[in-house]
Amino acid sequence: MTRIGILGAGGRMGRALIAAVADTPLARLSGATDRAGSEAIGRDLGVLIGREPVGVAVTADPVALFSVSDVVIDFTAPAASAHHAALAADHGIALVVGTTGLNGDHQQAIDHAAGRVAVVQAANFSLGVNLLLALTRKVAATLDADFDIEILEMHHRHKVDAPSGTALALGRAAADGRGVDLDAVSDRVRDGFTGARQTGHIGFATLRGGYVIGDHSVIFAANGERLELGHRASDRTVFSRGAVRAALWAAGQPAGHYSMVDVLGL
Ligand code: NAD
Repeated sequence: MTRIGILGAGGRMGRALIAAVADTPLARLSGATDRAGSEAIGRDLGVLIGREPVGVAVTADPVALFSVSDVVIDFTAPAASAHHAALAADHGIALVVGTTGLNGDHQQAIDHAAGRVAVVQAANFSLGVNLLLALTRKVAATLDADFDIEILEMHHRHKVDAPSGTALALGRAAADGRGVDLDAVSDRVRDGFTGARQTGHIGFATLRGGYVIGDHSVIFAANGERLELGHRASDRTVFSRGAVRAALWAAGQPAGHYSMVDVLGL
């Protein structure tokens, strides 16, 4: 049995993760946290997800959670994930990170932890999106710059970062395929008199609204033809199941920074 702890238990993903761990035969929930002041604190994990009580309540104490877990899953917020990464390293506990919108300092904290424990980090834990990343790299490597690359994403109205971590990962995959640096060619926002599109650039467009869990398209547009690759998530369980699979895998790995490509053996 692998003991899995959940950080951010009261969130949309936190609740999905509690259910996914509870439904995984080889896993046991070691506990869960949320931020101090969250309405989830003190609630039974089973009740929190609309099931029978399990006798374990959400706390605001990540240190205690790390000391009773083999691996911990973090879908919280950027500064919280940086703090959790330092705790994972201090306790020698593997970590799975799904939080997006990290800045350079947050990412550095996670990279630092990966020098001491196994860290699986992915902007998207679904099997379909990880295949889409591989396909995007391949198509971008095959087509020349006559094909303009545009990445379109849509998410629910509560999402706080843009473009999504997955859209940026798709942009990096396309840039890798073309052998260019994404930062040098990305158009992340267009507004007003932008001038004509620059050849070789990779554009992003962001839509927000309703309850959309996550739609992504990569469009390769040339004169006379257009190729579109896309993925739609219609249920958060695609991320939570992938993250639990990553957690079971990470618990047995040496220190290092891993992605879902490693977990899935793609
Ligand atoms: P959410 O706002 O519903 O949940 C976040 C939870 O984290 C909240 O309950 C919040 O109180 C909690 N939190 C904040 N600070 C904390 C702290 N210091 N300690 C413990 N808990 C803390 O958001 P969400 O939709 O569940 O998404 C969470 C993150 O996961 C976002 O960055 C989102 O983009 C990302 N996400 C990633 C994937 C993926 O596959 N990688 C999929 C979906 C969402």
